[in-house]
Amino acid sequence: MEVPEIKIYPDPVLREVAEEVKEIMDEEIQEIIDQMFLAMYKTPNGIGLAANQIGVKKRIVVFDFKREKDRKGDPFVIINPEIVWTDGKIIHEEACLSIPGFSAKVTRKKRVGIRGYDRNGKLIEREGDDIEAICFQHEVDHLNGILFIDHVSGLKKAIFKRKMRKLMREARRKAHA
Ligand SMILES: [Zn+2]
Repeated sequence: MEVPEIKIYPDPVLREVAEEVKEIMDEEIQEIIDQMFLAMYKTPNGIGLAANQIGVKKRIVVFDFKREKDRKGDPFVIINPEIVWTDGKIIHEEACLSIPGFSAKVTRKKRVGIRGYDRNGKLIEREGDDIEAICFQHEVDHLNGILFIDHVSGLKKAIFKRKMRKLMREARRKAHA
């Protein structure tokens, strides 16, 4: 199976709202899940990935909070995920596989409950603290076309935009070289 490329900002698919999955047992959906795991494990340290990040507008997120560099830890998928409760507040330096080379402090809920379906169509609910809670919120945001930079305040966002313009100029130069 081919490993899909991770879409990089400002790819417009990252701004689209993903659609609810109707038939979880569908062969195509099962294949998307496999491809998402492949794409996540290809990165050196990704612990979560949303379907939009491989260009698929479906409400699917995959995680592995226990992954090590070349080894699977505890992979799981949540289909049609919903954050059902939240508690507390945490500020953490966030990054994103789709926005390489940039990180910033984001305020999130410290604990969340997330509900959705596993790949067999069974209803599941999980709780996450700290980094796990942040990751749940970050990936569900992706399904709604929201990126962590949207939670970043004025000055830091201006720095981000400047950096992105520079990167795009360089990419264009390289493309013409
Ligand atoms: Zn991300």
